[in-house]
Amino acid sequence: MIVPSWHEFVSEVQEIYLKCKPIQGGQVAQYIPQLARQDPEKWGVSICTVDGQRISFGDATTPFCFQSVSKAFNYAILASDIGADAVHSFVGQEPSGRFFNEICLDRNNKPHNPMVNSGAIIVSSLLKSDWSMSDRFDYILNEYKKLAGQEFIGFNNATFLSERDTADRNFALSYFMKECKCFPETRHSIREALDFYFQLCSLEGTCESLAVMAATLANGGVCPLTSEKCVQGRPCRDVLSLMYSCGMYDYSGQFAFQVGLPAKSGVSGAMIVVIPNLMGICMWSPPLDKMGNTVRGVEFCKEMIKKFKFHNYDSL
Ligand code: GLN
Repeated sequence: MIVPSWHEFVSEVQEIYLKCKPIQGGQVAQYIPQLARQDPEKWGVSICTVDGQRISFGDATTPFCFQSVSKAFNYAILASDIGADAVHSFVGQEPSGRFFNEICLDRNNKPHNPMVNSGAIIVSSLLKSDWSMSDRFDYILNEYKKLAGQEFIGFNNATFLSERDTADRNFALSYFMKECKCFPETRHSIREALDFYFQLCSLEGTCESLAVMAATLANGGVCPLTSEKCVQGRPCRDVLSLMYSCGMYDYSGQFAFQVGLPAKSGVSGAMIVVIPNLMGICMWSPPLDKMGNTVRGVEFCKEMIKKFKFHNYDSL
């Protein structure tokens, strides 16, 4: 077993979970009612190891939207399908150093990376770009379920509709990218490109199902529950590199410094962390810090690193 003293590990993680529970900082995202209504007291953590040992604490079976956590999986799915080189002819690998929805491109007039909105919109428009909208949605749902070992993946239509109703920034960003010829040539309009992007943000999971997805990445793309290969080797390495350098918005550098693990967060308060060859962790707590990361989630990771030698450079 990959974690030999499992009971000891579980009780130490539980201690950290409980330590983070009373934290009160941060604000629940307000830009759409479906997020604004989230209960700030919700706090769930789930862990799945690469050999399928599992443990959960708190609100680990309550559904929430992926939001930007989907950006990591969409990239991994796309790169497994069309290859890294094809993807990166449209989008770079550099942290933008800017807010996630800023209207800016890199010096080649490409989105900085797939983890900010510009890059994620391009990634979603590349996903099965010659298929119908309905088939593309089915395809992604199916790929997410594979990554999650067939555990809960849902879709929140109210969130999708709200995202679309408050999309001025993403439309402005997309028209700017259209002007700069960032989009692949497809049969789909900007409107459809954004619809698909919002649908991906509105997919739902739970701490439990997202922990399995994170564990699939920790396990080189093979789901630990089903042994199914979901992400190819190189894209799995690539998505973890991007998560490490760009996954935590404008806090990515500090997170890489302090925690030293690939992670991705979203405005729903969701966050995944991958400990390569060991485990996937999902945390969910809606209050966000100024950068847009879940306050309890980030604190939980810092506490984990104090207790365990999980930092990338701990074992030197
Ligand atoms: N739906 C949000 C947007 O596109 C996703 C943002 C996020 O989680 N950072 O603005």
